[in-house]
Amino acid sequence: MDKIALTNVRVFDGQRLLEPATVVIGGDRIGGDRADARTWDGGGGVLLPGLIDCHVHLTDDATLTALARNGVTTALDMGTESPELVASLRGRPGVTDVRSSGASATSPASAHAQRMGRASGLVADPDEARAYVARRVAEGVDYIKIIIDLPGFDEPTVRALVEAAHAHGLRAIAHAATSGAVLLGQAAGVDVLTHAPLDRSLEDAAVRRTRTSGEAVVPTLTMMEATAERLRGIAPVSYDVARAVVGDWYRAGVTVLAGTDANQAPFAPASPPYGSSLHHELELLVDAGLPAVDALRSATVLAAQYFGLADRGAIAAGKRADLVLIDGDPLADISAVSKIAAVWCGGIPVTDVPNQTAETR
Ligand SMILES: [Zn+2]
Repeated sequence: MDKIALTNVRVFDGQRLLEPATVVIGGDRIGGDRADARTWDGGGGVLLPGLIDCHVHLTDDATLTALARNGVTTALDMGTESPELVASLRGRPGVTDVRSSGASATSPASAHAQRMGRASGLVADPDEARAYVARRVAEGVDYIKIIIDLPGFDEPTVRALVEAAHAHGLRAIAHAATSGAVLLGQAAGVDVLTHAPLDRSLEDAAVRRTRTSGEAVVPTLTMMEATAERLRGIAPVSYDVARAVVGDWYRAGVTVLAGTDANQAPFAPASPPYGSSLHHELELLVDAGLPAVDALRSATVLAAQYFGLADRGAIAAGKRADLVLIDGDPLADISAVSKIAAVWCGGIPVTDVPNQTAETR
């Protein structure tokens, strides 16, 4: 594979932008001797670690390409029915790298299950919970996704899912889009809450508990904004509630991670686009109270750390060469993240990005 010396780039080191410097891309890794590398002038642009979207639903090749072109080099699937589809999208060179929960666990009594009208992933009681997790483990999933949609699951069933996940060394991620679902998830000991309540704010105690129990949150404000808009006048929901809860979580010291819920499911209340929605999510996180640096961290270093992706999330020698070159300073204006100049997925330049011409030294 080509070795490239990317010159004149300002690296985001997880805290600040460094002075213009050279980053060597040696095969699929960052680093190495630049002696035999082609030089590529980065034009003074800002180099970010490849972005991580902590909540998508897998669809097909085209959506992986859309993610990659928008700088999302890792996507964490939070619910895909077909293990064959997941397997076919894993480990593809030159596009977004994926992790997956496989099918999500749903109570047969929930509106979610009825809306989706599906047979797989239904979990009625603790015994079925253990069997469900064992099936996902056999498929090779990376974590367990639980849809807490009330009325539906009871606490013993969610707890059984969480305990079975933990017994297999996997994290349990809970869909919780109402304050009641957040409380049930917390009581059952889930590791990650995804979405944010649209119905009513969390009491201070619940906000603090998110912090003290070490839960991370993936608010998917992009999805909550679109859902609230869709349900306006139909259900008692408000985007302002979700936005305020995210601000409360952040100020309480909760780990906030970036995710969008990008999907193409016909039953979903909204379908954020793949890739570009993560840029919007970062803007919404800033609007909710995160400093730009923490919004960037939520989609890079923190996401990698929290999900155990030790080989990415930072620009350092030996890490996977997942890189995004952008035109503008995202710490001054987070919307600069959408000004993509070039993307590398595991050292492979993503095609059809308006790159500068490479010159040979
Ligand atoms: Zn989702």
